[in-house]
Amino acid sequence: MTERYDLHSHSTASDGALSPTELVQRASGCGVTALALTDHDTTSGLHEAQHQADLVGMRLIPGIELSTNWQNKCFHIVGLGIDPTYEPLANATQFLQSTRLERAEKIAFKLEKKRIPGALEAVKKAAGEGMITRNHFADFLLSQNHVSTQQEAFDRYLAEGKPAYVSTIWAELEVAVNWITQSGGVAVLAHPMRYKLTTNWMHRLLMVFKEAGGQGLEVITSRMNPDELRRVSDYAKRFDLAGSVGSDFHNPENPWIELGRLPDLPNHIKPVWELLN
Ligand code: AMP
Ligand code: MN
Ligand code: MN
Ligand code: MN
Repeated sequence: MTERYDLHSHSTASDGALSPTELVQRASGCGVTALALTDHDTTSGLHEAQHQADLVGMRLIPGIELSTNWQNKCFHIVGLGIDPTYEPLANATQFLQSTRLERAEKIAFKLEKKRIPGALEAVKKAAGEGMITRNHFADFLLSQNHVSTQQEAFDRYLAEGKPAYVSTIWAELEVAVNWITQSGGVAVLAHPMRYKLTTNWMHRLLMVFKEAGGQGLEVITSRMNPDELRRVSDYAKRFDLAGSVGSDFHNPENPWIELGRLPDLPNHIKPVWELLN
């Protein structure tokens, strides 16, 4: 049987629209044979996802997408094959949950100053037990007709440099990589082209990442152009990083991104799943 991997996805445990059960069902329906659930800074969806994966006969890879800082910028590190009970990692998710709540309070305050009240109550309600993310604020702004798309919510309010942006101290990148590897997982730098780094800065980042124990680069992600694929593949080769493949699926209403619907990893790149137990 040919395997179909999707090693980056979100559920209602963070900013995904589907519950872990629904996500696993959809992945299975899309022909995915191995799915990693990688919610932002939380592993709380993994138990339910594993239960459903057992029911439908699909492999679930326990994952997380950690928010980290390096050089005052934010980078997302995906952990694959992690042990969510590893104490430093479990403690980190608790800490990051309070970080996210405090940030949400500050974002809401900034929106209030722009005469947009009620955001905090709305995002808390929408996130429920899960992590509060900027996507929840985008949904709120959309529902209140302050913007007409999610993207516009980022462009006008939530993105860096916009009125409701709050600069946040997350985990240190090297420390986050360590939590992942010490818990038995593989650390992967997520969506490398999204940081808009020059080649020089990307080389510096990858040096630090590698030194900290990082082993993978998300070579295939949704909506890449051929030039980006070539550049990311070059980075993987140069730093001897294994290639990961992940859609970063959030929401079935986005027609551009579907579970498991991704190009193949170039065959000169070592697949990250060869590093997973
Ligand atoms: P957070 O981790 O709370 O800052 O939220 C990050 C999430 O918001 C990402 O995973 C994306 O889903 C979404 N996001 C971040 N930046 C943008 C942007 N500029 N445009 C659209 N969505 C974004
Ligand atoms: Mn997200
Ligand atoms: Mn991300
Ligand atoms: Mn993601």
